[in-house]
Amino acid sequence: LSERLGGVLDKLTKRGQLSEADVDEALREVRVALLEADAALPVVKDFITAVRAEAVGEKVTKSVTPGQMVIKIVHDELVKVLKAQGNEAPGLDLTHTPPVPILMLGLQGSGKTTSTAKISRRFAEKQGKKVLMASLDTRRPAAQQQLAILGEQTGIKTLPIIPGEPPVAIAKRAMNTGRLEGYDIVMLDTAGRLAIDDELMAELAEVRDAVKPHESLLVADAMTGQDAVNTAKHFQDKIGITGIMLTRIDGDARGGAALSMRAVTGKPIKLLGTGEKLDAIEDFHADRVAGRILGMGDIVSLVERAMEATEQEEAEKLALKMQKGQFDLNDLAQQMKQLQKMGGIGGIIGMLPGIGKMQKQLEGKVDEKVVKRSLAIISAMTPKERRVPDIIKASRKTRIAKGAGVQVQDVNKLLKQHQEMARMMKQVSKMGQKGLMRHGMA
Ligand code: GDP
Ligand code: MG
Repeated sequence: LSERLGGVLDKLTKRGQLSEADVDEALREVRVALLEADAALPVVKDFITAVRAEAVGEKVTKSVTPGQMVIKIVHDELVKVLKAQGNEAPGLDLTHTPPVPILMLGLQGSGKTTSTAKISRRFAEKQGKKVLMASLDTRRPAAQQQLAILGEQTGIKTLPIIPGEPPVAIAKRAMNTGRLEGYDIVMLDTAGRLAIDDELMAELAEVRDAVKPHESLLVADAMTGQDAVNTAKHFQDKIGITGIMLTRIDGDARGGAALSMRAVTGKPIKLLGTGEKLDAIEDFHADRVAGRILGMGDIVSLVERAMEATEQEEAEKLALKMQKGQFDLNDLAQQMKQLQKMGGIGGIIGMLPGIGKMQKQLEGKVDEKVVKRSLAIISAMTPKERRVPDIIKASRKTRIAKGAGVQVQDVNKLLKQHQEMARMMKQVSKMGQKGLMRHGMA
Protein backbone atom coordinates (compact mmCIF):
# COMPACT_ATOMS: atom_id res chain seq x y z
CA LEU A 1 0.00 0.00 0.00
CA SER A 2 2.80 2.40 0.87
CA GLU A 3 4.13 2.00 -2.65
CA ARG A 4 0.79 2.76 -4.20
CA LEU A 5 0.53 5.78 -1.95
CA GLY A 6 4.03 6.84 -2.85
CA GLY A 7 3.00 7.01 -6.50
CA VAL A 8 0.10 9.29 -5.75
CA LEU A 9 2.17 11.45 -3.47
CA ASP A 10 4.88 12.02 -6.04
CA LYS A 11 2.34 13.58 -8.35
CA LEU A 12 1.36 16.15 -5.78
CA THR A 13 3.27 19.38 -6.05
CA LYS A 14 4.90 21.08 -3.12
CA ARG A 15 3.16 24.16 -1.78
CA GLY A 16 3.11 26.08 1.47
CA GLN A 17 -0.29 24.96 2.68
CA LEU A 18 -2.49 21.92 2.21
CA SER A 19 -5.17 22.57 -0.40
CA GLU A 20 -8.49 20.75 -0.48
CA ALA A 21 -7.29 18.80 -3.50
CA ASP A 22 -4.10 17.67 -1.71
CA VAL A 23 -6.05 16.54 1.29
CA ASP A 24 -8.75 14.73 -0.65
CA GLU A 25 -6.26 12.89 -2.80
CA ALA A 26 -4.34 11.59 0.22
CA LEU A 27 -7.47 10.85 2.23
CA ARG A 28 -8.74 8.53 -0.49
CA GLU A 29 -5.73 6.34 0.20
CA VAL A 30 -6.13 6.66 3.96
CA ARG A 31 -9.71 5.51 3.62
CA VAL A 32 -8.61 2.37 1.81
CA ALA A 33 -5.94 1.74 4.44
CA LEU A 34 -8.44 2.01 7.29
CA LEU A 35 -10.92 -0.29 5.58
CA GLU A 36 -8.16 -2.78 4.88
CA ALA A 37 -7.36 -2.67 8.58
CA ASP A 38 -10.99 -3.71 9.12
CA ALA A 39 -12.28 -0.51 10.66
CA ALA A 40 -16.05 -0.21 10.20
CA LEU A 41 -17.23 1.88 7.25
CA PRO A 42 -19.38 4.44 9.11
CA VAL A 43 -16.56 4.97 11.61
CA VAL A 44 -14.07 5.49 8.79
CA LYS A 45 -16.39 8.00 7.11
CA ASP A 46 -16.77 10.09 10.26
CA PHE A 47 -13.09 9.95 10.98
CA ILE A 48 -12.14 11.07 7.47
CA THR A 49 -14.58 13.98 7.65
CA ALA A 50 -13.06 15.15 10.93
CA VAL A 51 -9.49 14.88 9.67
CA ARG A 52 -10.34 16.65 6.43
CA ALA A 53 -11.55 19.71 8.32
CA GLU A 54 -8.41 19.63 10.43
CA ALA A 55 -5.95 19.20 7.57
CA VAL A 56 -7.05 21.74 4.94
CA GLY A 57 -4.94 24.87 5.31
CA GLU A 58 -2.32 23.26 7.54
CA LYS A 59 1.26 24.24 6.88
CA VAL A 60 3.40 21.75 5.01
CA THR A 61 6.77 21.19 6.61
CA LYS A 62 9.76 21.74 4.38
CA SER A 63 11.02 18.72 2.43
CA VAL A 64 7.89 16.60 2.68
CA THR A 65 5.05 16.35 0.15
CA PRO A 66 1.51 17.51 0.94
CA GLY A 67 0.35 13.89 0.85
CA GLN A 68 2.94 12.86 3.41
CA MET A 69 1.89 15.78 5.58
CA VAL A 70 -1.72 14.60 5.43
CA ILE A 71 -0.69 11.10 6.53
CA LYS A 72 1.07 12.59 9.56
CA ILE A 73 -2.02 14.63 10.44
CA VAL A 74 -4.19 11.52 10.03
CA HIS A 75 -1.85 9.58 12.29
CA ASP A 76 -1.92 12.23 15.01
CA GLU A 77 -5.70 12.45 14.82
CA LEU A 78 -5.95 8.66 15.08
CA VAL A 79 -3.80 8.72 18.20
CA LYS A 80 -6.02 11.45 19.64
CA VAL A 81 -9.20 9.46 18.95
CA LEU A 82 -7.74 6.26 20.42
CA LYS A 83 -6.45 7.95 23.57
CA ALA A 84 -8.80 8.04 26.51
CA GLN A 85 -9.28 11.67 27.54
CA GLY A 86 -5.63 12.46 27.15
CA ASN A 87 -4.67 9.43 29.16
CA GLU A 88 -2.00 7.38 27.43
CA ALA A 89 -2.45 4.04 29.20
CA PRO A 90 -5.62 4.14 31.29
CA GLY A 91 -5.54 0.56 32.69
CA LEU A 92 -8.16 -0.72 35.09
CA ASP A 93 -9.37 1.54 37.86
CA LEU A 94 -9.29 0.21 41.41
CA THR A 95 -10.45 3.27 43.33
CA HIS A 96 -13.31 1.53 45.09
CA THR A 97 -13.81 -0.10 48.48
CA PRO A 98 -12.36 -3.62 48.36
CA PRO A 99 -13.20 -6.12 47.14
CA VAL A 100 -13.38 -4.35 43.75
CA PRO A 101 -15.73 -6.28 41.46
CA ILE A 102 -14.48 -6.56 37.87
CA LEU A 103 -16.80 -8.10 35.31
CA MET A 104 -15.38 -9.72 32.16
CA LEU A 105 -17.72 -9.67 29.16
CA GLY A 106 -17.56 -10.81 25.54
CA LEU A 107 -18.41 -13.34 22.89
CA GLN A 108 -17.39 -16.98 23.22
CA GLY A 109 -13.76 -17.54 22.37
CA SER A 110 -12.86 -13.85 22.59
CA GLY A 111 -10.38 -14.63 25.38
CA LYS A 112 -12.34 -13.77 28.54
CA THR A 113 -11.13 -16.67 30.67
CA THR A 114 -7.50 -16.33 29.60
CA SER A 115 -7.63 -12.56 30.12
CA THR A 116 -9.21 -12.98 33.56
CA ALA A 117 -6.18 -15.02 34.60
CA LYS A 118 -3.74 -12.61 32.92
CA ILE A 119 -5.19 -9.56 34.65
CA SER A 120 -5.38 -11.29 38.03
CA ARG A 121 -1.79 -12.45 37.80
CA ARG A 122 -0.64 -8.97 36.87
CA PHE A 123 -2.44 -7.33 39.79
CA ALA A 124 -1.01 -9.93 42.17
CA GLU A 125 2.56 -9.72 40.90
CA LYS A 126 2.92 -6.03 40.11
CA GLN A 127 0.76 -4.52 42.84
CA GLY A 128 0.71 -7.26 45.46
CA LYS A 129 -3.08 -7.45 45.32
CA LYS A 130 -5.06 -10.33 46.75
CA VAL A 131 -7.26 -11.49 43.89
CA LEU A 132 -10.15 -13.97 43.79
CA MET A 133 -11.34 -15.35 40.44
CA ALA A 134 -14.76 -16.87 39.86
CA SER A 135 -16.22 -18.45 36.73
CA LEU A 136 -19.90 -17.76 36.08
CA ASP A 137 -19.75 -19.81 32.89
CA THR A 138 -22.18 -22.60 33.67
CA ARG A 139 -23.00 -23.02 29.99
CA ARG A 140 -19.87 -24.50 28.51
CA PRO A 141 -18.85 -27.86 29.97
CA ALA A 142 -15.56 -27.61 31.86
CA ALA A 143 -15.46 -23.80 31.62
CA GLN A 144 -15.28 -23.51 35.40
CA GLN A 145 -12.53 -26.13 35.54
CA GLN A 146 -10.60 -24.19 32.90
CA LEU A 147 -10.43 -21.17 35.21
CA ALA A 148 -9.54 -23.38 38.20
CA ILE A 149 -6.60 -24.80 36.25
CA LEU A 150 -5.42 -21.31 35.29
CA GLY A 151 -5.71 -20.43 38.97
CA GLU A 152 -3.39 -23.27 39.88
CA GLN A 153 -0.91 -22.25 37.18
CA THR A 154 -0.79 -18.65 38.35
CA GLY A 155 -1.22 -19.19 42.08
CA ILE A 156 -4.40 -17.09 42.08
CA LYS A 157 -7.29 -18.32 44.25
CA THR A 158 -10.49 -19.41 42.51
CA LEU A 159 -13.91 -19.68 44.10
CA PRO A 160 -14.71 -23.35 44.88
CA ILE A 161 -17.12 -24.81 42.29
CA ILE A 162 -20.60 -25.85 43.40
CA PRO A 163 -22.14 -27.96 40.61
CA GLY A 164 -25.48 -26.62 39.36
CA GLU A 165 -25.20 -23.21 41.01
CA PRO A 166 -26.63 -20.47 38.74
CA PRO A 167 -24.42 -17.54 37.58
CA VAL A 168 -25.99 -14.83 39.75
CA ALA A 169 -25.62 -16.98 42.86
CA ILE A 170 -21.96 -17.64 42.01
CA ALA A 171 -21.37 -13.91 41.60
CA LYS A 172 -22.94 -13.10 44.97
CA ARG A 173 -21.02 -15.88 46.69
CA ALA A 174 -17.78 -14.61 45.14
CA MET A 175 -18.41 -11.11 46.48
CA ASN A 176 -19.27 -12.46 49.93
CA THR A 177 -16.14 -14.58 50.03
CA GLY A 178 -14.19 -11.56 48.84
CA ARG A 179 -15.51 -9.45 51.70
CA LEU A 180 -15.16 -12.13 54.40
CA GLU A 181 -11.66 -13.19 53.40
CA GLY A 182 -10.26 -9.74 52.74
CA TYR A 183 -9.68 -9.86 48.98
CA ASP A 184 -8.76 -6.66 47.13
CA ILE A 185 -10.26 -7.67 43.80
CA VAL A 186 -12.90 -10.14 42.64
CA MET A 187 -12.63 -11.05 38.94
CA LEU A 188 -15.87 -12.38 37.49
CA ASP A 189 -15.43 -14.41 34.29
CA THR A 190 -18.73 -14.84 32.42
CA ALA A 191 -20.15 -17.12 29.74
CA GLY A 192 -20.15 -16.00 26.12
CA ARG A 193 -22.06 -16.94 23.00
CA LEU A 194 -20.96 -17.32 19.42
CA ALA A 195 -23.29 -14.43 18.62
CA ILE A 196 -25.17 -11.90 20.72
CA ASP A 197 -28.38 -13.33 22.17
CA ASP A 198 -31.06 -11.97 24.47
CA GLU A 199 -30.92 -14.79 26.98
CA LEU A 200 -27.24 -14.17 27.64
CA MET A 201 -27.76 -10.42 27.90
CA ALA A 202 -30.54 -10.93 30.45
CA GLU A 203 -28.28 -13.19 32.50
CA LEU A 204 -25.42 -10.70 32.39
CA ALA A 205 -27.71 -7.82 33.32
CA GLU A 206 -28.85 -9.77 36.36
CA VAL A 207 -25.25 -10.38 37.41
CA ARG A 208 -24.45 -6.71 36.88
CA ASP A 209 -27.34 -5.64 39.12
CA ALA A 210 -26.31 -8.11 41.80
CA VAL A 211 -22.64 -7.13 42.09
CA LYS A 212 -22.51 -3.57 40.68
CA PRO A 213 -19.13 -4.06 38.98
CA HIS A 214 -16.63 -1.21 39.26
CA GLU A 215 -15.17 -2.14 35.87
CA SER A 216 -17.01 -4.02 33.13
CA LEU A 217 -14.40 -4.97 30.59
CA LEU A 218 -15.46 -6.00 27.13
CA VAL A 219 -13.01 -8.59 25.84
CA ALA A 220 -12.89 -8.58 22.05
CA ASP A 221 -10.83 -10.38 19.45
CA ALA A 222 -8.78 -7.96 17.32
CA MET A 223 -9.55 -10.16 14.30
CA THR A 224 -13.29 -9.51 14.67
CA GLY A 225 -13.15 -6.75 12.10
CA GLN A 226 -16.47 -5.45 10.89
CA ASP A 227 -18.48 -7.33 13.55
CA ALA A 228 -16.66 -5.46 16.28
CA VAL A 229 -19.03 -2.53 15.98
CA ASN A 230 -22.19 -4.60 16.53
CA THR A 231 -20.73 -6.55 19.41
CA ALA A 232 -19.44 -3.49 21.19
CA LYS A 233 -22.61 -1.51 20.68
CA HIS A 234 -24.75 -4.35 21.96
CA PHE A 235 -22.75 -4.90 25.14
CA GLN A 236 -22.58 -1.17 25.73
CA ASP A 237 -26.35 -0.68 25.28
CA LYS A 238 -27.51 -3.78 27.19
CA ILE A 239 -24.95 -4.06 29.99
CA GLY A 240 -22.82 -0.95 29.91
CA ILE A 241 -19.05 -1.25 29.71
CA THR A 242 -16.24 0.80 31.23
CA GLY A 243 -13.51 -0.26 28.83
CA ILE A 244 -12.26 -2.72 26.25
CA MET A 245 -9.52 -5.33 26.19
CA LEU A 246 -8.42 -6.23 22.69
CA THR A 247 -7.02 -9.76 22.39
CA ARG A 248 -5.01 -11.60 19.69
CA ILE A 249 -3.18 -8.42 18.80
CA ASP A 250 -0.26 -10.83 18.25
CA GLY A 251 -2.04 -12.14 15.15
CA ASP A 252 -1.94 -10.37 11.81
CA ALA A 253 -5.05 -8.27 12.30
CA ARG A 254 -4.27 -4.63 11.66
CA GLY A 255 -6.50 -3.62 14.55
CA GLY A 256 -9.13 -1.45 12.88
CA ALA A 257 -11.51 -2.94 15.47
CA ALA A 258 -9.85 -0.73 18.07
CA LEU A 259 -10.90 2.41 16.21
CA SER A 260 -14.41 1.06 15.55
CA MET A 261 -15.10 0.01 19.12
CA ARG A 262 -13.64 3.15 20.61
CA ALA A 263 -15.78 5.24 18.27
CA VAL A 264 -19.11 3.48 18.82
CA THR A 265 -18.85 3.00 22.59
CA GLY A 266 -16.87 6.10 23.52
CA LYS A 267 -15.05 3.84 26.02
CA PRO A 268 -11.28 3.50 26.15
CA ILE A 269 -9.25 0.51 25.04
CA LYS A 270 -7.55 -0.37 28.32
CA LEU A 271 -5.51 -3.48 27.72
CA LEU A 272 -4.11 -5.66 24.95
CA GLY A 273 -3.81 -9.43 24.84
CA THR A 274 -0.62 -10.27 23.00
CA GLY A 275 -0.44 -14.06 23.08
CA GLU A 276 -1.65 -17.28 24.64
CA LYS A 277 0.79 -17.22 27.54
CA LEU A 278 -0.38 -15.80 30.83
CA ASP A 279 2.12 -12.95 30.82
CA ALA A 280 1.06 -11.85 27.33
CA ILE A 281 -0.80 -8.74 28.41
CA GLU A 282 0.12 -5.09 27.81
CA ASP A 283 -1.18 -1.65 28.52
CA PHE A 284 -2.79 0.02 25.56
CA HIS A 285 -0.61 2.58 23.80
CA ALA A 286 -2.50 4.70 21.32
CA ASP A 287 0.47 5.58 19.12
CA ARG A 288 1.56 1.99 18.60
CA VAL A 289 -1.93 0.84 17.69
CA ALA A 290 -2.50 3.89 15.46
CA GLY A 291 0.67 3.06 13.55
CA ARG A 292 -0.50 -0.47 13.05
CA ILE A 293 -3.98 0.48 11.89
CA LEU A 294 -2.74 3.04 9.40
CA GLY A 295 0.14 0.84 8.25
CA MET A 296 2.11 3.89 7.09
CA GLY A 297 4.66 4.12 9.86
CA ASP A 298 7.50 4.94 7.45
CA ILE A 299 5.80 8.05 6.18
CA VAL A 300 4.87 9.19 9.68
CA SER A 301 8.42 8.94 10.97
CA LEU A 302 9.75 10.61 7.81
CA VAL A 303 7.52 13.63 8.43
CA GLU A 304 8.41 13.67 12.12
CA ARG A 305 12.09 13.80 11.26
CA ALA A 306 11.51 16.60 8.76
CA MET A 307 9.57 18.58 11.36
CA GLU A 308 12.34 18.16 13.88
CA ALA A 309 14.94 19.28 11.36
CA THR A 310 12.94 22.44 10.62
CA GLU A 311 12.70 23.23 14.30
CA GLN A 312 16.41 22.66 14.67
CA GLU A 313 17.09 25.07 11.80
CA GLU A 314 14.99 27.79 13.41
CA ALA A 315 16.76 27.27 16.70
CA GLU A 316 20.13 27.58 15.03
CA LYS A 317 19.15 30.85 13.38
CA LEU A 318 18.11 32.19 16.74
CA ALA A 319 21.33 31.07 18.38
CA LEU A 320 23.30 32.91 15.72
CA LYS A 321 21.33 36.10 16.36
CA MET A 322 21.99 35.83 20.07
CA GLN A 323 25.68 35.47 19.46
CA LYS A 324 25.72 38.65 17.44
CA GLY A 325 24.10 40.43 20.35
CA GLN A 326 20.93 41.18 18.37
CA PHE A 327 18.44 39.79 20.80
CA ASP A 328 15.18 41.71 20.97
CA LEU A 329 11.83 40.84 22.52
CA ASN A 330 10.65 39.12 19.32
CA ASP A 331 13.55 36.75 19.72
CA LEU A 332 12.76 36.24 23.36
CA ALA A 333 9.17 35.35 22.48
CA GLN A 334 10.30 32.97 19.76
CA GLN A 335 12.75 31.38 22.13
CA MET A 336 10.08 30.90 24.75
CA LYS A 337 7.79 29.24 22.26
CA GLN A 338 10.56 26.88 21.30
CA LEU A 339 11.24 26.26 24.93
CA GLN A 340 7.68 25.11 25.34
CA LYS A 341 8.06 22.77 22.39
CA MET A 342 11.50 21.41 23.20
CA GLY A 343 10.72 21.07 26.88
CA GLY A 344 13.77 22.89 28.17
CA ILE A 345 16.14 25.74 27.58
CA GLY A 346 19.05 23.40 26.97
CA GLY A 347 18.03 22.80 23.36
CA ILE A 348 18.77 26.34 22.18
CA ILE A 349 21.25 27.65 24.69
CA GLY A 350 23.20 24.46 24.35
CA MET A 351 24.08 25.53 20.81
CA LEU A 352 26.01 28.52 22.07
CA PRO A 353 29.66 27.92 22.87
CA GLY A 354 30.96 28.02 26.42
CA ILE A 355 27.75 28.18 28.38
CA GLY A 356 28.02 25.33 30.93
CA LYS A 357 27.11 26.82 34.29
CA MET A 358 24.74 29.45 32.96
CA GLN A 359 22.69 26.84 31.23
CA LYS A 360 22.01 25.16 34.54
CA GLN A 361 21.01 28.50 36.06
CA LEU A 362 18.58 29.18 33.26
CA GLU A 363 17.01 25.74 33.34
CA GLY A 364 15.86 26.25 36.88
CA LYS A 365 13.93 29.31 35.77
CA VAL A 366 11.65 27.64 33.23
CA ASP A 367 8.11 27.60 34.49
CA GLU A 368 5.19 26.93 32.16
CA LYS A 369 2.98 29.60 33.77
CA VAL A 370 5.69 32.24 33.63
CA VAL A 371 6.36 31.42 30.00
CA LYS A 372 2.69 31.85 29.13
CA ARG A 373 2.47 35.16 30.99
CA SER A 374 5.64 36.45 29.34
CA LEU A 375 4.31 35.58 25.90
CA ALA A 376 1.08 37.43 26.68
CA ILE A 377 3.04 40.51 27.73
CA ILE A 378 5.17 40.50 24.59
CA SER A 379 2.15 40.13 22.34
CA ALA A 380 0.54 43.17 24.01
CA MET A 381 3.46 45.31 22.79
CA THR A 382 3.74 47.22 19.52
CA PRO A 383 6.25 45.89 16.97
CA LYS A 384 8.54 48.84 17.71
CA GLU A 385 8.48 48.18 21.44
CA ARG A 386 9.50 44.60 20.79
CA ARG A 387 12.41 45.68 18.64
CA VAL A 388 13.56 48.56 20.86
CA PRO A 389 12.56 47.71 24.45
CA ASP A 390 14.36 50.83 25.73
CA ILE A 391 11.43 53.03 24.68
CA ILE A 392 9.08 51.27 27.13
CA LYS A 393 8.55 53.81 29.91
CA ALA A 394 5.84 54.20 32.57
CA SER A 395 2.78 54.95 30.42
CA ARG A 396 3.64 52.26 27.90
CA LYS A 397 4.13 49.79 30.72
CA THR A 398 0.66 50.52 32.08
CA ARG A 399 -0.88 50.03 28.65
CA ILE A 400 0.97 46.76 28.05
CA ALA A 401 0.09 45.40 31.49
CA LYS A 402 -3.58 46.15 30.87
CA GLY A 403 -3.47 44.56 27.43
CA ALA A 404 -1.90 41.39 28.78
CA GLY A 405 -4.07 41.26 31.90
CA VAL A 406 -1.10 41.44 34.28
CA GLN A 407 0.44 43.87 36.78
CA VAL A 408 2.97 46.53 35.81
CA GLN A 409 5.53 44.77 37.98
CA ASP A 410 5.17 41.67 35.78
CA VAL A 411 6.07 43.81 32.76
CA ASN A 412 9.07 45.15 34.66
CA LYS A 413 10.16 41.65 35.55
CA LEU A 414 9.99 40.53 31.95
CA LEU A 415 11.97 43.56 30.73
CA LYS A 416 14.59 42.94 33.35
CA GLN A 417 14.79 39.28 32.39
CA HIS A 418 15.29 40.26 28.77
CA GLN A 419 18.05 42.73 29.68
CA GLU A 420 19.79 40.11 31.73
CA MET A 421 19.58 37.57 28.96
CA ALA A 422 20.79 40.00 26.31
CA ARG A 423 23.73 40.86 28.56
CA MET A 424 24.50 37.22 29.10
CA MET A 425 24.30 36.49 25.40
CA LYS A 426 26.93 39.16 24.72
CA GLN A 427 29.15 37.80 27.45
CA VAL A 428 28.80 34.30 26.17
CA SER A 429 29.58 35.24 22.62
CA LYS A 430 32.68 37.15 23.78
CA MET A 431 33.76 34.12 25.77
CA GLY A 432 33.16 31.98 22.75
CA GLN A 433 35.30 34.23 20.57
CA LYS A 434 38.09 34.32 23.11
CA GLY A 435 37.96 30.56 23.20
CA LEU A 436 38.29 30.47 19.45
CA MET A 437 41.18 32.96 19.53
CA ARG A 438 43.00 30.86 22.07
CA HIS A 439 42.76 28.03 19.65
CA GLY A 440 44.02 30.25 16.91
CA MET A 441 40.88 29.97 14.88
CA ALA A 442 39.69 33.56 14.84
P1 GDP B 1 -13.38 -17.24 26.26
O1 GDP B 1 -14.31 -18.18 25.60
O2 GDP B 1 -13.76 -15.82 25.94
O3 GDP B 1 -13.27 -17.45 27.72
O4 GDP B 1 -11.95 -17.46 25.60
P2 GDP B 1 -10.68 -18.21 26.19
O5 GDP B 1 -10.05 -17.39 27.25
O6 GDP B 1 -11.05 -19.61 26.55
O7 GDP B 1 -9.71 -18.17 24.95
C1 GDP B 1 -9.95 -18.85 23.74
C2 GDP B 1 -8.62 -19.13 23.04
O8 GDP B 1 -7.99 -17.92 22.68
C3 GDP B 1 -7.64 -19.88 23.92
O9 GDP B 1 -7.02 -20.87 23.15
C4 GDP B 1 -6.64 -18.83 24.32
O10 GDP B 1 -5.36 -19.34 24.54
C5 GDP B 1 -6.66 -17.90 23.13
N1 GDP B 1 -6.27 -16.54 23.44
C6 GDP B 1 -6.79 -15.69 24.39
N2 GDP B 1 -6.19 -14.48 24.36
C7 GDP B 1 -5.26 -14.55 23.38
C8 GDP B 1 -4.32 -13.60 22.85
O11 GDP B 1 -4.19 -12.43 23.26
N3 GDP B 1 -3.54 -14.04 21.81
C9 GDP B 1 -3.64 -15.30 21.31
N4 GDP B 1 -2.84 -15.63 20.31
N5 GDP B 1 -4.52 -16.19 21.78
C10 GDP B 1 -5.32 -15.83 22.80
MG1 MG C 1 -14.36 -18.66 29.01
